Amino acid sequence: GRGIWRVPSGLIILVVAYLGLASAPVLIGWAQGWPPRPLRDELSSGLAMTAFAILLIEFLLSGRFRAVSAPIGIDLTMRLHQLLGRLAVVFVFLHPVAYSLPLAQAPWDDTRASVLGLTPAATATGLVAWVVLMVLAWFAIVRDRLPYRYETWRLTHGIGAAVVAVASLHHTLEAGRYASAGLARAFWITATAAALLSLVWVYLVKPLAQAASPYRVARTERVAHAIWRVVIEPLAASAFRFRAGQFVWLKSGSWLKLADHPFSIASGPADLPRIEFVIKEAGDFTADLPRRLAAGTPVYLDGPFGNFTVDRRIGQAIVLMAGGVGIAPALSILRGLATDGETRPVTLIYANRIVEQIVAQDELDRLGERLDLRVHHVLSEPPAGWSGETGLIDAAMMRRLIRRELRAQPLCFVCGPVPMIDSVERDLSALGVPVSQVVSERFRYDAGANTPRERRIGAGLAALAAAHLALAVAFALR
Ligand SMILES: Cc1cc2nc3c(=O)[nH]c(=O)nc-3n(C[C@H](O)[C@H](O)[C@H](O)COP(=O)(O)OP(=O)(O)OC[C@H]3O[C@@H](n4cnc5c(N)ncnc54)[C@H](O)[C@@H]3O)c2cc1C
Repeated sequence: GRGIWRVPSGLIILVVAYLGLASAPVLIGWAQGWPPRPLRDELSSGLAMTAFAILLIEFLLSGRFRAVSAPIGIDLTMRLHQLLGRLAVVFVFLHPVAYSLPLAQAPWDDTRASVLGLTPAATATGLVAWVVLMVLAWFAIVRDRLPYRYETWRLTHGIGAAVVAVASLHHTLEAGRYASAGLARAFWITATAAALLSLVWVYLVKPLAQAASPYRVARTERVAHAIWRVVIEPLAASAFRFRAGQFVWLKSGSWLKLADHPFSIASGPADLPRIEFVIKEAGDFTADLPRRLAAGTPVYLDGPFGNFTVDRRIGQAIVLMAGGVGIAPALSILRGLATDGETRPVTLIYANRIVEQIVAQDELDRLGERLDLRVHHVLSEPPAGWSGETGLIDAAMMRRLIRRELRAQPLCFVCGPVPMIDSVERDLSALGVPVSQVVSERFRYDAGANTPRERRIGAGLAALAAAHLALAVAFALR
């Protein structure tokens, strides 16, 4: 239906801003009015300028800026960060390879029309930026298979990105034919400074703000198999507000620590100032919660982030599909809907492996008194005598459980393991639910599966890549 093509206005604004920033250097270079060099060399410069601009924009796509992630959601923000990063890497890879002109300097050639005029220093910084970027990209892609802790990876990713930015700036100002004009220099210096400031903002300014509004753990208790409920409360009056379904970055112990972890808020906005999380044991941080988040432990929040939220969306019925700990944001949404007196029909399909993993069963039953709510439990390894659904959530199950909702323009929320989200997105699409009516949130950003949403993102990225290439070619042929 037409709904498939409904694009959120926030996304349009971001894309326009992105294209403006990423194209600015080439356009400024064009306006310089110098005679073009051979096609290959002009193309190489055009792609390099575009790539450097994209890399600087990547700093804002780190997931820590609400102005970016609020309109488009954290899933799309991180996916764009990954894909645009790869696009820039391809352009940067080609940059030194594509040149045909000699490197030498020729003082008589004012506009460097026949030589590249690379100084040794510019060659060195160019090489550093190129190599570090390739390593960064490679590490980011194979991260899960590397024997390093997530925190180690993130630290090296941040430091590496800063090195690439600074080395690229030096290389560009020193070697860039189109960086000699005042406006171009001003653009590069300002944009690089902004990118570096974003790191200062995230790792220094924000922590200072967090230190000023500390929380402490009120209670940490085991509520299901390998799943913990953590309740925190602010130490002083707090202005923290969120929309049901959003998440925060949580840091425990000291506000100076660099490492923080994203967790969905499981409580409703009406439960503030208390905030509840439902956390599943995964790796080192979440493996030792009774100690790490023992009652009294200071914790610090950055957020809220994300748009896994009901408000500002249209739908005749609300369908929540949660897998395992994906119940956390769904609980928040349900609690929020109950307080808000929601009257539309709400369905929760809650999938787990075993019955011991089910969280908040009693409360889910009781929520039915305040909401027009149906809860369906699904177990892939049901105990003897289980009367609920079995197996995995699939199209046949959806047709059975939400037949009426599927016909009534439902608003669907999906949260759980990545393979579950991917398959549910595919099924919903096959059942005729437009992509724009499906909101999903992945707890890991190792996406890339063949889903309708991913195909849409791929098409969008191909369009952006084509726009960049078209501009670079037009610039080279001018
Ligand atoms: C938006 C969002 C909301 C989330 N909400 C919840 C929730 O409500 N309940 C819950 O149990 N889990 C949630 N998670 C997942 C949770 O953040 C990870 O399970 C946790 O950070 C794992 O840390 P670890 O050290 O225990 O495990 P590790 O073994 O170190 O990590 C396991 C995997 O988790 C991811 N991860 C680890 N550390 C981080 C980090 N600092 N930042 C981002 N990702 C990381 C990586 O993909 C890593 O491969 C959420 C994740 C995201 C992105």
